[in-house]
Amino acid sequence: MSGAGTIARENPARTDEIVGVVRETAPEAVDLIVREADADQRGWAARGLPDRLAALARVAAAIEDATPGLATLLARESGKVVGDCRGELGFAVRYLRWVVEHAPSAYADRVLDDDLGRIVEQRKPYGVVAAVTPWNAPVILAMLKIAPALAAGNAIVVKPSPLAPLTISRVVDLFDAPVRVVHGGAETGAALVGHELVRKVAFTGGAAGGRAVATLAGDRLTPSVLELGGNDPAVFLDDAPFTDDAMDRLVMATFATSGQVCMAAKRLYVPSSRLSAFVGAYLAAADRVLVTGDPLADGVTMGPVISGAAQRAALALRDSGTVHDLGRFDGDPASGYFVRPALVVEPDPGSPLVVAEQFAPVVPVLGYADEESVLAAANAGELGLGASVWSADEERAFAFARRFEAGFTFVNTHNRTGMSLRAPFGGVKRSGWGREYAHEGLAEYVQTCVIHAPAAFRPGAAVTGGGPSAYPAG
Ligand code: NAD
Repeated sequence: MSGAGTIARENPARTDEIVGVVRETAPEAVDLIVREADADQRGWAARGLPDRLAALARVAAAIEDATPGLATLLARESGKVVGDCRGELGFAVRYLRWVVEHAPSAYADRVLDDDLGRIVEQRKPYGVVAAVTPWNAPVILAMLKIAPALAAGNAIVVKPSPLAPLTISRVVDLFDAPVRVVHGGAETGAALVGHELVRKVAFTGGAAGGRAVATLAGDRLTPSVLELGGNDPAVFLDDAPFTDDAMDRLVMATFATSGQVCMAAKRLYVPSSRLSAFVGAYLAAADRVLVTGDPLADGVTMGPVISGAAQRAALALRDSGTVHDLGRFDGDPASGYFVRPALVVEPDPGSPLVVAEQFAPVVPVLGYADEESVLAAANAGELGLGASVWSADEERAFAFARRFEAGFTFVNTHNRTGMSLRAPFGGVKRSGWGREYAHEGLAEYVQTCVIHAPAAFRPGAAVTGGGPSAYPAG
């Protein structure tokens, strides 16, 4: 719901409740904000790395202190269960601290000084970074851009999704650093990304938004990082045990955040000979771990989907195969955008549920005959974000995993339980480019600028090696 110049965020679990209102940022105001960011950036960079990292460490402590209130706000604006919201905030704090610990080595000069000459590689900030982020994990997905950008000496302007603008705005207020928020939809995002003073773009979202943002950035020759959607396969090899533990993890790997996670397990593949045993174990796991209801209620593990449009799209996905409703419902399903989670057994392999990213609490399971055919099915399509392989034998799992076309493969788990601050994350094929997390995620926010003095041309050195137009010796 939006009025003139404002965005009123409704609670997707109680659609009669407005959680908060933010002022929309008009394109002319975006211009002013980017110019302010640009004006602040040089002073921030000049403060030096230790001082900048000290500021980030203080923010980490401030977010930690504010977490109970922030988690409740996040649950109310996004429909995610409050335990997940606490987890997301805690992860954002851990990531900030990881950046504080690792930025000194990642951003240090690298110096080579020998008889061929002296090379100094500097890691310099870009200037103003534009970050455009989705609603499904609004704090961590912004923090993956804010923390390294600021550590490196950039200023950053964040445009969160209008579907979850409130918590991230409160988090940004805790920074004593050049990070600003602009609010609005695609138009505001475009005004930000296409601004002449923006020197780097970081986008997380779907393919359509990604294409628009990459086109705008490309038109200005602004480099970008794009973290887009996925249609992750989870492949059970013939020796994978269906233990309670594994099945509980698999169920939540799909249904955490109501299936609205980029690296959720979105297609399940099981040997045909084991399909009925798998379905029995899966339904039992869902009975143990899947309780749909009010995100603030104790014991609830899945909330509503984000909007009425998402609810209608989710219901339309149950169009072929055998549909099993999962877990139980606690509360009033009519109070918000609730969708009963479902496992769809052997849908048409060409159905939208299988070939596209569902981003909804509905998951297909398909039987397969042999490893070659399941690899071909898993690697089909244009997306290549995540994947998982499940096996009793880790070596066998790693050998299989090497053959996935995916940016990140999990073994015996999937989704956030398998993430690591130490491992770069991002997609191949049309799931995006660039990486977040780990040292690669830090490297996205600096440019390598080199100073080189060849020894041969030092004042007083005897010029060796072939004269004024020779190729270098090393
Ligand atoms: P979305 O693309 O609709 O929106 C993402 C952001 O882009 C929002 O802030 C939106 O306002 C903005 N935006 C949309 N169109 C734009 C345009 N033309 N110009 C400028 N800005 C524009 O995505 P969403 O629905 O918020 O999120 C869901 C998608 O994000 C899914 O596909 C999901 O897989 C993906 N995602 C990917 C990752 C990852 O790390 N790879 C993480 C989370 C979500």
